[in-house]
Amino acid sequence: MTVLVTGGAGYIGSHTVQELLKTGHKVAVYDNLSTGHGWAVPQDVPLIKADIADRLVLTEVLRNYEVEAVVHFAASSLVGESMTQPAKYYRNNVAGTLSLLETMQECGVKQMVFSSTAAVYGEPEAWPITEEMPLAPTNVYGRTKLVIEGMLKDFAAAYDLRYVSLRYFNAAGALAGGGIGEDHNPETHLIPLILQTAHGRRPQIDIYGTDYPTADGTCVRDYIHVTDLAAAHVLALKHLAGGGAPKVYNLGSETGFSVQEVIEKAKEITGIDFPVREAARRSGDPAVLVASAARIRQELDWKPVYSSLDRILRSAWVWETR
Ligand code: UDP
Repeated sequence: MTVLVTGGAGYIGSHTVQELLKTGHKVAVYDNLSTGHGWAVPQDVPLIKADIADRLVLTEVLRNYEVEAVVHFAASSLVGESMTQPAKYYRNNVAGTLSLLETMQECGVKQMVFSSTAAVYGEPEAWPITEEMPLAPTNVYGRTKLVIEGMLKDFAAAYDLRYVSLRYFNAAGALAGGGIGEDHNPETHLIPLILQTAHGRRPQIDIYGTDYPTADGTCVRDYIHVTDLAAAHVLALKHLAGGGAPKVYNLGSETGFSVQEVIEKAKEITGIDFPVREAARRSGDPAVLVASAARIRQELDWKPVYSSLDRILRSAWVWETR
């Protein structure tokens, strides 16, 4: 069986391709390369450069490669941009996924693993966050992912689609042994920005807000190694292949670190005392986001192995200084 990975040239997508190959799957990548990188896709994996909204190409690919399941990453994913260009997000994410689902249905492809986000919870009332907590995204990006989750539920009820939706907390780190890692343009994520500063590629790292109601006043996040995230997609496919019912799972390490703690750990690991500046809050940032991943641990036997802050930072530092 071939697994089609939309957005497989992106950060989490390309790490998932590695994990799929390692577990013996046949893989094809479908990516318009608007933000992904051709170099992130292994040379012996077919890379179809097209948009998920292009139903003709997609139909041909689903049929020619005899695709049985789709792992769907292709999306616009910058929170800030989603607020100023909502149309782009509703078009690429919501309309793009609708087009993909309809094409899958036409071609008899009935399994999807969907890349969702902790942003669907918005500003949570309590921690750790479980899947039953209220869904109230505070930005357009999160809202588009929540609309898609609803779409998947409705398609599963009315047609014979089966899916697993994975709500990621903060993906970070890079593939052991190098080759691929995080490379966004522009980069907005904390860990790569910190390491670029340590490396001398940026003058300083800004801490967005030091007056949050947390122990040291800076935001707390749950950082999860991208290879542990990738492994969860393989388990989700196994669940679907075995006839499993639609599911929604959180994916996080279940441990929170403040921005200040991540900076301190990065200084220790790199051995570099880089400049840090206190800055204003970034709008829309909740104070604390920490997952409960009990459901996927129990139901799919998922076990994070790389997600200590130490391993995340060390692997990302190898990638940064490659
Ligand atoms: N952050 C920061 N400085 C930066 C980038 C991010 O202080 O230059 C903070 C941000 O406010 C958040 C945390 O780091 O509390 C993680 O942000 P990131 O953008 O990596 O992920 P998000 O939590 O937004 O998905």
